[in-house]
Amino acid sequence: MISDLLEDYGLDRGRFSLHWVSSAEPDKFVAAVTETTQRVKALGPIKDMGVTTAMEWLCSCSGCEIAILNIGEALVPIITEALDIVHSPVLMDHKYFGQTGEGVELTIPEAVVGIVTGGVNNTEHEEVLHEMRKKCQVLIALGSCATGGGIPALMNGMNGVETLQQTQETPSTDAGATIPTIEVPTLLGRVYACSEIVKVDMELPGCPPNPALIAEVIVSLLENRAPNLPTKSVCDTCPTRREGKGAVTEVKRFISNAEFDPAQPISDMRCLLEQGYMCMGPVTASGCAVGRGAPSCIAARVPCRGCFGPVQGKGNQMLDMMNALASNGIDYSSVVDRRSLLRFSGAHGNLRPAKTK
Ligand code: SF4
Ligand code: SF4
Ligand code: SF4
Repeated sequence: MISDLLEDYGLDRGRFSLHWVSSAEPDKFVAAVTETTQRVKALGPIKDMGVTTAMEWLCSCSGCEIAILNIGEALVPIITEALDIVHSPVLMDHKYFGQTGEGVELTIPEAVVGIVTGGVNNTEHEEVLHEMRKKCQVLIALGSCATGGGIPALMNGMNGVETLQQTQETPSTDAGATIPTIEVPTLLGRVYACSEIVKVDMELPGCPPNPALIAEVIVSLLENRAPNLPTKSVCDTCPTRREGKGAVTEVKRFISNAEFDPAQPISDMRCLLEQGYMCMGPVTASGCAVGRGAPSCIAARVPCRGCFGPVQGKGNQMLDMMNALASNGIDYSSVVDRRSLLRFSGAHGNLRPAKTK
C-alpha cells in the first residue's frame, strides 16, 4: 500500500522496501540497509521536491526544533511542498559517516538552505558546523544558543576547568565520577556563537525563537526577498502603562508577584521596570510579541529576561541594562549578579564577560 501511495505522489515505488529482521540477525540487517541505500541512491535525487534544506543541532536543547513544529498548520505546505529536507538528525536517521558507517569523513549532503540550532561547545560541534557551512548556500543560525551562545554560554564567565570539575566530578550517586575522555568530543573550554566560527548569512534569535518569525524567514527565502524582521526593542512592543521613574530606587528580586489586577488587561499593569523588577525589555531585541499582541513574558506578567539578545548586533546587554537602570533612577549596584544579564548572549566575542580566574 505504501508503494502505491508513493506512486500516487509521483515517486518511484523502488524508494520503499520492507524487511523483517530479528535482533539476532545483524548480517541480514546490514544487507537490507546496504541494498536499500544503494537502490535509492541509484534512483537519484527526487526532482521538483522543493528547496533542499539541511538542519543541524549543536549544543542545543531541541526547543528550537519544537519552535519549528509550533509553526503549526502553516508548516504542512512548507514541509511537503516547499522544502526538501535532505538532512536533519532530529527528524531522520541520517548518519554522518554513511548509513552503514562506510565513510571515513563526516559528510552532510549539499543543500540550498542550512539551519543550525545551538552554539559550539566541543570539537564535534565545530566540525559539523564547518561541514554545514561548506555544504549549504545560505546558512541560518536559529535560536539564541546559535546566535549568542544561549544558556550554555553562562559558563564563559567562569573558569572552564572548574566548571567541568563541578559538573562532572561533583560527588553524586555515581561515586568517584571523573571527567569522561574516551569516545567523547573534546570540550573547547568555552561556548561560541555560530558566527564566531563560520560566516552566518542570517540570524534569528529567541529562546525559543518565535514560530511566526521562523515561518517568515523560510517563506522570504522561498520568495527570494529579505525577511520582514523586527528591529526595535521589547519595550517598543510592550503595552504596559509607563508613568516615569521615581517609584523605586533599587532592583527588587522577583520572588513575589508584580502589582497588577489579573482581571484587567496588560495595558493596565505598570511597567515592571518602573515597579523595580529587572525587566530587560529596554536592551532586548523585539520579536516575541509578533502575532501575540504583547511580549511573551510580559503577557504572563513576568519580567523580560532578555532571550532575544541585544537590540543591536554588537550590543552588550549587561552594560546596556546598567545604563537603563540608571536612566530609570534605579541604583545599579543593587543588582546581585550582573553577569547573569548575559545569560542569553554571553558567547560572542564582543559580549563575553571577563573570566573570574
Ligand atoms: S535557544 Fe533556547 S530553545 Fe533553542 S536550543 Fe537554545 S536553549 Fe534550546
Ligand atoms: S521594561 Fe519591561 S514592562 Fe517596562 S515597557 Fe519594557 S518590556 Fe514592558
Ligand atoms: S519577553 Fe524577553 S525573555 Fe520573554 S520571550 Fe520576549 S525577549 Fe524573551
